[in-house]
Amino acid sequence: MRANAVESVPMTLRVCSLLCLALPAFAQTNETAKLLTEIIRIDTSNPPGKEGSLAEFLAPRFQALGFEVDPLPPPHPATAHSTPRWRGDGSRKPILLAAHADVVGVERDKWSMDPFAGIIKDGYVFGRGAIDFKGGLAVFAEAAMMLAKNKVPLARDVIFLSEADEEGGRYNTEWLAQSHWDKMDCEFSLNEGGWIIQRPDGRVRYVSISTADKIGVSLVFTAKGKSTHSSMPLPDNAIFTLAKALAKIADYETKPLLIPSTKEFFLTIAKTSEPPMSTYFSNLVNGTPEQVREADREISKDPLLHAILRNTIAPVLMQAGFRGNVIPGSAQATINFRMIPGSNVADLIGEMKRAIGDDRIEITQVTGASGGTRPPEVLERMSKTPTSSEDTELYRALAKEARTEYPGAAVTPYLFQAGTDSLAWRSRGVPVYGIYPYPIDAEDLSRMHGNDERVRVESLKTGTEMIYRTLLDVASRK
Ligand SMILES: [Zn+2]
Repeated sequence: MRANAVESVPMTLRVCSLLCLALPAFAQTNETAKLLTEIIRIDTSNPPGKEGSLAEFLAPRFQALGFEVDPLPPPHPATAHSTPRWRGDGSRKPILLAAHADVVGVERDKWSMDPFAGIIKDGYVFGRGAIDFKGGLAVFAEAAMMLAKNKVPLARDVIFLSEADEEGGRYNTEWLAQSHWDKMDCEFSLNEGGWIIQRPDGRVRYVSISTADKIGVSLVFTAKGKSTHSSMPLPDNAIFTLAKALAKIADYETKPLLIPSTKEFFLTIAKTSEPPMSTYFSNLVNGTPEQVREADREISKDPLLHAILRNTIAPVLMQAGFRGNVIPGSAQATINFRMIPGSNVADLIGEMKRAIGDDRIEITQVTGASGGTRPPEVLERMSKTPTSSEDTELYRALAKEARTEYPGAAVTPYLFQAGTDSLAWRSRGVPVYGIYPYPIDAEDLSRMHGNDERVRVESLKTGTEMIYRTLLDVASRK
């Protein structure tokens, strides 16, 4: 794919752009894939994370190239952030590349290989974190190191941040922003987020760059009843009451909520789709109420697209009873919601109460549990955090380099269907753009946080080229 991509770049671009600086480093080997295999072997399953060992592994590599590596004191023995910095002349504010170093754990018996062996097989790198997000960490690190290897004079510092506690835990980038903002202050940043989606034939269909994230919140639904001997059941059984409420929620669907980037996303993919989907995508944005309902029904058959156009509802935990001959006095279900920015928890609770229509169900917000739930004041801040503007040098450069690297692909802003740790910057007015910087298809995407997670070796190569050239565009001295 790469050879074709280079061929199709206009000659003027090939001759005059700084692209030529990228080629020597790629001519011999795919350093990014090699680096990824090495960091997969450092098990950073969170909990506990142990991101410090990954930071220690990377530090001498950055130092050898002249990066300033000023390790942050680990807030906890198991966690550590690291911020190698390649100095520019200081005439412009830094750019930061953020990548979380921790990964989720594995169901080891369901893998066909050791998830922490970093194996290359059949053109893929396999291992936990290959997609989320050690693959991105390897791409960002390699692209940053290439600037130093190629001795590119910079107008701004390039900061590479290897983060702790993104998948869970309290010493995440929010903690870092409160304790060491000077280490991460920048004009704009790249992080995980949007997707480079491949067609079945391998060509890239679209590149989505996330400019906002959905907001995770968990609510507990509680039903109460009289606790008594199970031989004499009463009409107010807490488990039955809860079950009826959940059945109503199962049949309930929230309405589409399209923010500007989501509208642009659907209108863009309408152009790269065949009928009837192309019609559904444009009708979702511009159709009559009846057309919107029909488009929503068809589009929502794809779980990713279903998720980005509405507040989603997912029951995740249930709790009731403690033994076989006692009717419990209460039953609880935890429901995880992913809200569109601008939504708020009070409105969501009101909507759920109306959908259930039973005063016996109490709905309360939980914090500190798994599932992306943050304290109410943080959720409030998340909901009010503006989308990152597409009118910045970094967004324009990334979009341009995505089009150059993947000719024919549509490029669009995007609302990320899950949460990331971008809030630490976005809530302070610093734009963050999210991308998993490697082409991926639906099959590989479904392995993220799953089994036999993998990323194509070739995808790592083209992704590194795209990010490297983006850095040249925004950071090199002109
Ligand atoms: Zn991630």
